[in-house]
Amino acid sequence: MNETVRVNPIACDAHGLCAELFPEWISLDDWGYPIVRPGPVPRELKEHARRAVDACPVLALRLVQAAKQSRARVSE
Ligand code: SF4
Repeated sequence: MNETVRVNPIACDAHGLCAELFPEWISLDDWGYPIVRPGPVPRELKEHARRAVDACPVLALRLVQAAKQSRARVSE
């Protein structure tokens, strides 16, 4: 299943933990907010992605199905 990482920018408090745990996919901007690579997370990195999602202290990070994300964009 293709999954992408998605950040809720309103909930995110810029803790930066996600970038520490998943640097292959997430970097931080100058204010400490995550910049997430677009596109599906490769299978070999899924465990890292889940670890970052689970560690976010404000539940701002999610793994979503790629198809669902596309639909969400259309309706936004
Ligand atoms: S761990 Fe959560 S709160 Fe911290 S920067 Fe990442 S998404 Fe934002």
